[in-house]
Amino acid sequence: MLTSTPALGVDPQTPSHEGEEPVSNEKLIGELDFDPTALKEKYDFERDRRIRSDGKTQYVGTSAGRFEAYSRDPWNDAEAPREPLTDHTSVIIAGGGFGGLLLGARLRDAGVTDIRVIETGGDFGGTWYWNRYPGAMCDIEAHIYLPLLEELNYAPKHRYAYAAEMLEISQRIGKEYGLYDKACFHTAITGAQWSEEDNRWHIQTDRNDTLTADYFLLACGRQSLPKLPNLPGIDQFEGHIFHSSRWDYDYTGGTSAGGMSGLANKRVGVVGTGATALQIVPEVAKDAGELLVFQRTPSTVGVRGQQETGPDWVDMSKPGWQRERRVNFQSHVQFGTTAGFVRPEVDLVGDGWTGAFEILAEPETAVSERLGRSPTQDELNELSEINDYRLMNQIRGRVDDIVEDPTTADALKPWYRWWCKRPGWHDDYLGAFNRPNVTLVDTNGQGVERFTKNGVVVDGVEYPLDCLIMATGFESAISYTELTGFDIVGRETTLSQHWANGVRTLHGMSTDKFPNMFFIGGNTQTASAVNAVHLLDEQSQYVAHIVGQVEAQNAQAVEAQPKDVEQWVRIIAESPKNHAMFRFFAQCTPGYYNAEGKAETPADLFIGGRCGDGALAYYSVLQTWMKNKQLNGYSLELG
Ligand code: NDP
Repeated sequence: MLTSTPALGVDPQTPSHEGEEPVSNEKLIGELDFDPTALKEKYDFERDRRIRSDGKTQYVGTSAGRFEAYSRDPWNDAEAPREPLTDHTSVIIAGGGFGGLLLGARLRDAGVTDIRVIETGGDFGGTWYWNRYPGAMCDIEAHIYLPLLEELNYAPKHRYAYAAEMLEISQRIGKEYGLYDKACFHTAITGAQWSEEDNRWHIQTDRNDTLTADYFLLACGRQSLPKLPNLPGIDQFEGHIFHSSRWDYDYTGGTSAGGMSGLANKRVGVVGTGATALQIVPEVAKDAGELLVFQRTPSTVGVRGQQETGPDWVDMSKPGWQRERRVNFQSHVQFGTTAGFVRPEVDLVGDGWTGAFEILAEPETAVSERLGRSPTQDELNELSEINDYRLMNQIRGRVDDIVEDPTTADALKPWYRWWCKRPGWHDDYLGAFNRPNVTLVDTNGQGVERFTKNGVVVDGVEYPLDCLIMATGFESAISYTELTGFDIVGRETTLSQHWANGVRTLHGMSTDKFPNMFFIGGNTQTASAVNAVHLLDEQSQYVAHIVGQVEAQNAQAVEAQPKDVEQWVRIIAESPKNHAMFRFFAQCTPGYYNAEGKAETPADLFIGGRCGDGALAYYSVLQTWMKNKQLNGYSLELG
């Protein structure tokens, strides 16, 4: 059995070795060809100059109000008129992305077939309905990311699936599992109330539907609402402007596969350099007359290794192959974030993600062998930091290898620990800056400061532009009620009141006082998973298991018991790893991971307030609980 050094820092459970002889630093960390102290100072300097007093309020949402037009649906503009619905279904699912589709599919497998999905977009797909920008793809291997591949017997075309394929898979699931029959697209839920009189959920929508359902399931995503920097003058810009998730092909021409002839003579600006911009920039660079990329903080850009995959890329014949591959991937990733976790010998996915954790997380047995004894926690932390510098030096070295202009190359180098921001990957992003029509406008960590009618201003200099593409991300640190856009009325309380002092759930998917209601996704005391679809699938199976059991027993209602909710809340709150993670992110450059540098508790972190032992431990809790078949922690009301 191998154990790992915790890549994210202190794990207070590991014993200290007070009074033991300190070992030489070289024995612990090996030879260094860099100065860690100088790097740490550089990281601190770069972080400090990015901390802003306005924190999260530097952004403004676009789901309602002044900037609502930025959220308009460009794909299916004609909202087909229809009469309001007034019927009853067994299940209503809020959200038709991968989460809602998985819920629908797993429920059908459990024998529950009367399902209505309600979705604000014009089709299934969620993230991949909205995000169709040129070059859009998922940077998690397609064979582990795409849902239900085994059930659909579908082999992905590329190692990393493009958006069009992911939309097609969504539609395929919708058809295969009969979810189109009652789906309501271009429909937003506006209210939901539990009724004691008929033991049903009463649900209203913005299309004047008044619906009832036995079960209300929510799969509303995690980062689905586009946001913009709240800067002066955005309304005054007279050129063309849109958010990356609402690409305007009427203006640019072409498709997500490229060919944007409308940009040929245009001066285009991209604001933002996160995971989305990494994919957009190489495509726009090919077609735009001129491209200016406005950078506040550079992303890490690892080797992607995109390639076509044939039917033999993965042996899909063995039952359970997809879960096995997902677990294998998570094991390699988790090995780097959970002390004491076992790293399997085989790395089935073998990509940049697992490769990075290979550098970050050295097996503790190897460290013990070098030291002649087990390492102390301080030593493990030191080694972890040194390995992070090693990984980041490789990433910075890749910039030098690819980008020809030394000033541009320097500006593209990220100075923070690898996990401080969502790691990025691309084969063509850095090379795009060698093109004569592409300019990096580095803002020295300060960002674009305002808009004018002609373009944007950085450090007092105006950059005139014809078109502005806002790759500025999505609302992240918002309450569940803000995410869904409506409050939910349970037994004698609303969800916003019930969670006013913090989220309280059982297994991250239900709460007391809200019978027959379950929610899936990553923002409610669940676990942090690099492969979000793996998480959604495990959760969907849990929910389908409960609904199937309740139906089999002919019960009226199922509700999480307060004492079990309290216990789950305690498990999450007391998890030492959550506190270690908090200390790690407190040192990071600002971003949505750490509430723009203003996180005050672990729960404020984007990936905080989760099952501290990692996603596999969380899945194991769910699996063990399901095997028991007793619905422990829930009370049933029999009819
Ligand atoms: P992000 O929030 O990651 O990035 C927003 C970008 O906008 C940052 O670079 C930010 O800079 C920049 N920015 C904000 N304000 C300004 C300003 N005033 N001037 C200049 N720059 C500014 O959004 P993304 O859309 O890139 O990614 C969102 C999420 O979607 C991520 O979680 C990502 O993982 C996910 N995603 C996943 C993909 C996948 O393949 N699985 C693909 C694409 C996205 P700063 O860093 O300084 O804050």
